[in-house]
Amino acid sequence: MVEFQPSKLAMRVRSPSPALSFKKESIKFLVINRLTGQFLSIMTLIPIKEALQTVIDSVKVRRPDTVNILNALNLVSAQEVISKINIPPFENSQMDGFAISVTESTKFPLTLDVVETVFAGHNPKKLIDETVACRIFTGAKLNVGANAVAMQENCDYDTKAKKVIVNVPVAPGENIRTVGDDVSQKQVIIPSGTIFTPAVIGLAASCGIDKVKIIRPPKIGIVSTGSELMSVGKKLMPAKIYDSNRLTLSALVKQLNLKVYDFGIIPDDISILTRLLKVYSKRVDVLIISGGVSVGDADFVKTSIQKLCPKNSQSLQIAIKPAKPFAYGTNDNCIFFGLPGNPVSATVSFELLVKPALKKMMGYKSYDIQYVKVEAKQDIPSHNDSKTHYLRVMLKKDINGNYSGVLSQKQGSHNLLSLANSNALAEIPNRRSIKKGQFFKAIVTDSVAN
Ligand code: AMP
Ligand code: MG
Repeated sequence: MVEFQPSKLAMRVRSPSPALSFKKESIKFLVINRLTGQFLSIMTLIPIKEALQTVIDSVKVRRPDTVNILNALNLVSAQEVISKINIPPFENSQMDGFAISVTESTKFPLTLDVVETVFAGHNPKKLIDETVACRIFTGAKLNVGANAVAMQENCDYDTKAKKVIVNVPVAPGENIRTVGDDVSQKQVIIPSGTIFTPAVIGLAASCGIDKVKIIRPPKIGIVSTGSELMSVGKKLMPAKIYDSNRLTLSALVKQLNLKVYDFGIIPDDISILTRLLKVYSKRVDVLIISGGVSVGDADFVKTSIQKLCPKNSQSLQIAIKPAKPFAYGTNDNCIFFGLPGNPVSATVSFELLVKPALKKMMGYKSYDIQYVKVEAKQDIPSHNDSKTHYLRVMLKKDINGNYSGVLSQKQGSHNLLSLANSNALAEIPNRRSIKKGQFFKAIVTDSVAN
């Protein structure tokens, strides 16, 4: 029978409360008994920005390691990478055609004897001057003396007579890739702090680099808590539900190219929970736990984290909806993140708090949440509960790259179907209403179709 009365009784606290480590503005709620009106306690809601800062401040960038280049995908370079070679390493043809020697005053059409054929990977032998040409293919090394390539589409080639007529004028240097045109020897190709995208991995490989120094990715353990949970693949028993958070969170972690350790389900039992979290925390760098962080009688995760991290742990109530409760702690072994159990809340909590923290640990220079500006395709009514709301939206992009969005129909924190049918979270501040045609900020969580 407990009721939070934010709208009538909320007090904004401008100065820091000495008992809390939050610096700026927190929002206090009176918790009252709805039946009797009796005052029970004060609940402090932390603005999301401050909660994020607190979490970010409690994690450190990890140490470097050396990995094979392909394993560096989405990891961050811990050292600048310098090319030891020129790319291209030799002058070569950009086209299928004929390698020739021309000056500004060469007259066209030009008839030449074809003295050699050179494919990519072959070393040309013949010298080219103004009287002869070499049949050449894309990527093949240019003959000594040649200074241009005539496209085969602009030539008539008599294969029997081995003569070519170049019909269209070709200037010196045309269709030739010069040495070092892409990358020059000793050039920094990958500055420290670069994220290894597929293109960056290809660039390193083109320069012959097979191993790179990266910020060591943290090992992530994922565990679900709740006596109602069953693993997929088993027959669903009465009063039980399938554990979806472990899968969603594992997939979100895998998107960052981090290794997931699946620790299964722990029942709502404080001693089992604390014992298992302690065991698991020794095997990973980060433990992401979902469920059991709220105020229910079977919510033990906060207490377990406190026990395992006596020097540094916090249980937060964040001024957001969904995903209000959040717990974290650090000890010498591991960083613990306790996320709410409702599937949408767990995902929102991961996006807003855990992902930026993981990115900082991985060495990302920027781990700020990225927003896009979205035109509302419908009215979005305001709310007044002192919280920032994150609403599921489906975004579309027009040909000019502008986003527009419609709200998913169901916004309950258990509605996983509407999360699956959305690709962004609209950030709607307290008391802000959005009219159709107005704009709001959104966090893109998945790919956006046109
Ligand atoms: P809790 O945060 O433990 O109070 O859980 C809140 C709601 O989320 C409850 O309805 C739980 O049954 C549900 N829930 C908790 N953990 C999971 C999970 N791993 N997968 C799906 N639903 C969950
Ligand atoms: Mg639970």
